[in-house]
Amino acid sequence: MTDARQAALPPGSVIGIVGGGQLGRMSAMAAARLGYFAHILTDDPHSPAAQVASAVTIGAHSDPDVLRRFAEAVDVVTFEFENVSADGLELLAASRPVRPDGSILRISQDRLAEKRFLAGADIPLAPWHPVEDRAALDAAAGSLGYPFVLKTTRLGYDGKGQRVLDDAAGLDAAFAALAPHPLVAEGFVSFACELSVMVARGLDGTVRAYDTVQNHHRHHILDLTLAPAPVDPEMALDAQALAIRIAEALGLVGLLGVELFLAADGRLLVNEIAPRPHNSGHWTMDACLVDQFEMHIRAVAGLRLPPATRHSDALMKNLVGPDDMALWPRVVETDGLLPHLYGKREARPGRKMGHVNRLFPKGGLPGAFGIRAALGPLADPAGGEA
Ligand code: AMP
Repeated sequence: MTDARQAALPPGSVIGIVGGGQLGRMSAMAAARLGYFAHILTDDPHSPAAQVASAVTIGAHSDPDVLRRFAEAVDVVTFEFENVSADGLELLAASRPVRPDGSILRISQDRLAEKRFLAGADIPLAPWHPVEDRAALDAAAGSLGYPFVLKTTRLGYDGKGQRVLDDAAGLDAAFAALAPHPLVAEGFVSFACELSVMVARGLDGTVRAYDTVQNHHRHHILDLTLAPAPVDPEMALDAQALAIRIAEALGLVGLLGVELFLAADGRLLVNEIAPRPHNSGHWTMDACLVDQFEMHIRAVAGLRLPPATRHSDALMKNLVGPDDMALWPRVVETDGLLPHLYGKREARPGRKMGHVNRLFPKGGLPGAFGIRAALGPLADPAGGEA
């Protein structure tokens, strides 16, 4: 009998996390709070996660010997990023439980596989076409009309690896610039706003979804998250229901971020999924009884998943690059801004250095004007809105 409680890892077990970034750091801190030891696989001994972990394997996640050594040192393997090779995933799974399962990472690390899976599960998506060659791009343009978005299938994040095409004149250059092929062409969604939902699923099949939130980007990087999303409550529930359907269709054990567009015509369309903690879930660290990182670790460790209860409304603001970090001395002295820094030594442009949360009583999330006031020194970031 594999009752969930029997399967739960006892305190003192070692949770292996592939990746050394801030998501690994905050997962490791949550693991420590539950009495687990976090063991990080990273190529950088000074990485954000390595700084707070109880053990580190230094090496490349593409190196089979490194993966083998890492797996032998841990009780369960999870990830803070998706891009471990298929061979690497198999190697890990041969020696330890891997949560979420490698098959889920293989779907989420390839936009085409992801779209095929989601379409097969009847999840609403913007129209899309695989683009294997130049002729397929012409056919996609003919079917989608302009503008449309051309994206790489792998390694795209924060708007990297994609172009918006406004007319046929740009097709040759975009096809040549985006690699590797195949690519995917997507209808351009005229959206009212961008939403996301964090959903967790435990070993026993329990599913917990956090409230739907709204996201604003600057220069293609997440800037602000508003929790809950200031949209029609029915729409917010529909977004949660879609996220839950995806988690169940995947047979997820772990945590999943689901990004959606609320289209101008009122339809919800899923943009992409990420089977790990997500930047748009950082608000949960201060506004929920159990945050996304603890939920992630609980799922991975086979513990019971508690309800994803939100006790406050929240605003999350990312601290990105040297401009935001120049404001840090004022941010940390502002009452009510709850700081989370990632321990990165160098504030390069576009680099996520940390975030702050600001809480409001439930129902008290302010409108645009009040949000600026609530951000204090961060209200007027250098560079302005993109
Ligand atoms: P992605 O890397 O797919 O998450 O895309 C990054 C951002 O580009 C999204 O958050 C949107 O703001 C924008 N975007 C991506 N795909 C589309 C689309 N099909 N239509 C309109 N905007 C898009």
